[in-house]
Amino acid sequence: MTTECKLLTPTTQSTQSTQADAPISRATFDQVMVPNYAPGAFIPVRGHGSRLWDQSGREFIDFAGGIAVSAVGHTHPKVVKALTDQANKIWHVANVLTNEPALALARSLVEKTFADRVFFCNSGAEANEAALKLARKVASDNYPSPGAEHGETEKFEIVSCLNSFHGRTLFTVSVGGQPKYTQGFGPLPSGIKHVPYNDIEALRAAVSDKTCAVIVEPIQGEGGVTAATKEYLHAVRELCDQHHALMIFDEVQSGAGRTGSLYAYMNCCAVPDILTSAKGLGGGFPIGAMLTTEKIAAHFGVGSHGTTYGGNPLACAVSLAVLDIISAPETLANVAARHDQFFAMLNEINRKYGVFKEVRGQGLLIGAELAEKWAGRGKDFVKACEKQGLMILIAGPNVLRFAPSLIITQEDVEQGMKRFDAAVAELLAAETSVAA
Ligand SMILES: *Cc1c(COP(=O)(O)O)cnc(C)c1O
Repeated sequence: MTTECKLLTPTTQSTQSTQADAPISRATFDQVMVPNYAPGAFIPVRGHGSRLWDQSGREFIDFAGGIAVSAVGHTHPKVVKALTDQANKIWHVANVLTNEPALALARSLVEKTFADRVFFCNSGAEANEAALKLARKVASDNYPSPGAEHGETEKFEIVSCLNSFHGRTLFTVSVGGQPKYTQGFGPLPSGIKHVPYNDIEALRAAVSDKTCAVIVEPIQGEGGVTAATKEYLHAVRELCDQHHALMIFDEVQSGAGRTGSLYAYMNCCAVPDILTSAKGLGGGFPIGAMLTTEKIAAHFGVGSHGTTYGGNPLACAVSLAVLDIISAPETLANVAARHDQFFAMLNEINRKYGVFKEVRGQGLLIGAELAEKWAGRGKDFVKACEKQGLMILIAGPNVLRFAPSLIITQEDVEQGMKRFDAAVAELLAAETSVAA
């Protein structure tokens, strides 16, 4: 027997309808998507290596790498094979069971890094969320308040850097050092202190016995492609040791071969207690990982943390193939060679046009800060490049960012730079004609 049920709708709901049979286009985005993004004018439908093609067949050279994600370019045959092989075996079992690709990937990460233990999730924010929760848990277990019954501890403070970016969950935006990302989302988690990046004295003043963790990006990616100094990272390590706090490296952007080492900590002579990885690790398939030591990992006992898809066989099979390519000496050597090529060509373009204040970065995470005259105009450069068939990124309004495939060829960089040169020339010409 069925009972009548009236569908109750909120009084505020609109009755807007969409044309289900209209062709999918950029305009569709504005009709059906939440407007939190402002995607470019074209829709890519196909990619190979460092090239992409849009709906109309127009070709683009990819210097953006899907925001430092497509570490081995698009549709790499070995990665496509790993994905399709796994797709024909098993997709998902959840963490009530383990699976072979997850174990193989974890073993490979443990072999290649300082870590003894790995936790898998699906994004950078989730990897950081896990790292920050783990740091709080370690402090709660090791330094409970007198008489604590529910894990209370005085050692809960997290020290993070201004201008940093750690993801978009409520905890990770709060830890991130860019207030524009927390506005309107309060009340925010508490116990978080922010200090200026690369300022050792400020760090010394902020870290105390109440600190459970210091989280740092070895290179601030979203914050403008700014590297931490070795002295700074050494100071973080020493202060963490002195105050029994954990050192967390957010290598979501700097990791997975991006700087020319498998992880940036390997360049800077400071080993973290916890490292987070995502973006390039999956080469375009969503995956995140938190790496740590056996001793710290022990604090995440059964039931303490988890996620349904973490360690998904498809993601792990893809990531294992990606990691294999990334960690090959030829790939890391290519990162160094293409870095030099990028720097030489960007500096050459700057000699011609004088649009940059500074070209900086490591490996294939490169930032070109705009000169005073062009301050705040990053998006105009992105659009000018789009017109020339080139994809680039910005890191804040003043910095152009390049994060191409780690196996991009010399020819692709050369051709991409020709398009970049043309884009800059056109932007300058438009500017002078406006001024005239
Ligand atoms: C992109 C990024 C994140 C967030 O990763 P998501 O996969 O978008 O959640 C965190 N930290 C750093 C340094 C990043 O660059």
